[in-house]
Amino acid sequence: MIPAILPTYSRAPLSFVRGEGSWLIEADGRRFLDLGAGIAVNALGHAHPALVKALTEQAGQLWHTSNLYKIPQQQALAERLVELSFADTVFFTNSGTEACELAVKMARKYFHDQGQPERVEIITFSGAFHGRSSAGIAAAGSDKMTKGFGPLLPGFKHLDFADHEALTVAITETTAAILLEPVQGEGGIRALPDSCLKGLRDLCDEHGILLILDEVQCGVGRTGKLFAHEWAGIAPDIMMVAKGIGGGFPLGAVLANEKAASGMTAGTHGSTYGGNPLGCAVGCAVLDIIAAPAFLAEINRKAGLLRQKLEGLVSAHPEVFEEVRGAGLMLGLKCRAANSDVVAAGYAHELITVPAADNVIRLLPPLNITDDEIAQAIARLESAAASLTPS
Ligand SMILES: *Cc1c(COP(=O)(O)O)cnc(C)c1O
Repeated sequence: MIPAILPTYSRAPLSFVRGEGSWLIEADGRRFLDLGAGIAVNALGHAHPALVKALTEQAGQLWHTSNLYKIPQQQALAERLVELSFADTVFFTNSGTEACELAVKMARKYFHDQGQPERVEIITFSGAFHGRSSAGIAAAGSDKMTKGFGPLLPGFKHLDFADHEALTVAITETTAAILLEPVQGEGGIRALPDSCLKGLRDLCDEHGILLILDEVQCGVGRTGKLFAHEWAGIAPDIMMVAKGIGGGFPLGAVLANEKAASGMTAGTHGSTYGGNPLGCAVGCAVLDIIAAPAFLAEINRKAGLLRQKLEGLVSAHPEVFEEVRGAGLMLGLKCRAANSDVVAAGYAHELITVPAADNVIRLLPPLNITDDEIAQAIARLESAAASLTPS
């Protein structure tokens, strides 16, 4: 018999009733150190007082009106994002997937309105993840995500990750945009070198096509800059954001420059819940904390500390781990043991990590994790690794 919950996830035998900062607590009181943060969603940990305050205050005032009316919290968050980024304009969604949908629509509409309706194709890369909608799976293109769900949305061309040669050949008169994650999350914490991102920007400019960045997982402070592309000193034309921006409340956004957004006039797109007062009140509170230069500096300091300790862990357990990769507090441990075994060994030591492709486990802790919690995380990873090492 089919379970009451559609069985699309094979779930770990864990169930939490409460969260406090970097900790998740089970009904029996067991406390797990959370290096997953809901897959980079709980950017400020669990039950952060400023976010609880923003949400509960707003909940007592007004939950929902409609985008038929002005929403002051949405206006405030949009203005803040415009001020803090390359973007001139913002559309709010409830998820990363919905942000992907709009990014694709926006790029195509731009060329349509420019009198180049043949430019519909979007180039993407192997290992990408852009969500589970029809456009999202077509964009990623992997067998795992697309098989059985055809016919797929046409207009995507898939290249090998970071294959610059193939890219120069792939761009034609029908290309509209290049879409990629500066640091792949689901694909196994694969960071594109800054020089490649610069090269992609140049290539887009040269061919008059748009650069779309998916910063759903790597954005909002995760890599130690507010947005990951800032490390390369470039700006995209369109950017997808979600996960961390809501700190656990469902919130996403598409940020764009004026040119790329120029086709999206009244009536061309919409959302019932996107940009609702609750989500945007929380989003403002998240940005107030994460966008502060001193907070970003702390992320970088802690990332250095964690990474250095992880390098030590890898050298001490070469049968279990192969290498550390990633950027900021978006780190991956490429495993020699099966990554699912390493994640399970973590659970046995009350530590949460998240598996990814390429036999990697992801460490995506709350951005406000403390030094002491980093030390505890390493101790638990040591014990987990020791439990997997044949003696
Ligand atoms: C999680 C994720 C998405 C999809 O976001 P949802 O909120 O699950 O719809 C898209 N792109 C990337 C890079 C992601 O990590």
